[in-house]
Amino acid sequence: MKYVKLFFFSLLLTLNAQAQQQNDLIIKNINVIAMTNSEVLKNTSVLFSNGKIKAIADFKELPKNKKTIILNGKGKFLMPGLAEMHSHLPISSKVDTLLMENVAAGITRLRIMNTNTPLVALKNRLESNSSTISPKLYYSHSITRDIDYNAAQFDSLMITIKKNNFDFIKVLSVANEVVFDNLMQAANKHQVIVCGHFPVGVHIEKVLTSGYKSIEHLAGYDKITNTSELGKIIELTKEKEVYNCPTLDWDLMSKNLQYPNEYKNRLVYNNAPKQYVNQWETKYKADLLKQGIATVLLNQQKNQPIFEYKQKILKQLSDNNCLLLMGSDPSTFFQMNGFNLHQEMYNWSQAGIDNFSILKAATITPARFFNEEQLWGTIEVGKTADAIMLEKNPLDDIRNITTVEMTIINGKTYLKKNLVKK
Ligand SMILES: [Zn+2]
Repeated sequence: MKYVKLFFFSLLLTLNAQAQQQNDLIIKNINVIAMTNSEVLKNTSVLFSNGKIKAIADFKELPKNKKTIILNGKGKFLMPGLAEMHSHLPISSKVDTLLMENVAAGITRLRIMNTNTPLVALKNRLESNSSTISPKLYYSHSITRDIDYNAAQFDSLMITIKKNNFDFIKVLSVANEVVFDNLMQAANKHQVIVCGHFPVGVHIEKVLTSGYKSIEHLAGYDKITNTSELGKIIELTKEKEVYNCPTLDWDLMSKNLQYPNEYKNRLVYNNAPKQYVNQWETKYKADLLKQGIATVLLNQQKNQPIFEYKQKILKQLSDNNCLLLMGSDPSTFFQMNGFNLHQEMYNWSQAGIDNFSILKAATITPARFFNEEQLWGTIEVGKTADAIMLEKNPLDDIRNITTVEMTIINGKTYLKKNLVKK
């Protein structure tokens, strides 16, 4: 056993030293969750070459050369890397830690839903510094209610967004319906993705038929109390292929729904470094004191039924095969970057969503959102060499997603234990 471990370690050292040259990599005898269906391809081998998945076959059938790195995946599981579809970047030096922690958690794609942070400089820095350990980032330009543009102004904004190579527009809020119409008209003309918060003041039917691509936090839906009306809106959501990113964990944490003790059962709580947990506990206690327990309890009472309704809406969207995105919106205590997505997966499971659908929302559906399903989101020959290796099968129990031990991005390997110290 010791020999095997040493062998594995020396292979990884070689791997790190030669990462620049991108040697071929084979993960041998592993169980593959390709995400093309819910089957597990048992005991097969995967060849990564030049940043792509080159072949999936029996080990002896795979081409090798003397520089090929071979890792033994026996008894383990390989699946596509995860997409965190609702994340925010801080402006400070903490960005690099945030990105690294995402990689450690198995995140290979990050949709950045920023608001006030100027992203162009950050984007330039990250793109010129190849030593930053990072998922592939999708950048947004934020729209807030103080932007009162006419169609021509939005038109030139779209040109700027495309020039800066930004991937989409995130709506925080819109001034009014006319501004919304102007925005959508220009975005559709320039084929720029618009998504984000539900634009308050615009009817949900209009939003769903406008080309708006994803709605965050299940807003808009949560205001519909009539069952048949909700059914009709869900039908329309499906027909117009509008995505939803529920971010249940945002409700759980921002509304104190896990007060007083439930938060201690969070996957993040039990898997995060001790130092983080201690910091969170201190901050949480201070926050509770500041709010006052009476206010916390009142808030909880008011928001618990809304949360339960959101669980039902999510289940109904899933049952109707609507497009769903996994996003965990980490921003406060007990929500560690990257690892919070594992918690959000468990939140969906608690809402009655099956494990395959949960994993789809973090892999192939996000790829489709960015019109990139030909490039990533499944383990198939020709796709980008992005994957994660897990000790246990998340299709058996979604909490097994926390057993991710290695993340592969563009054929480069990163061990969780080297990125995050427990
Ligand atoms: Zn957010």
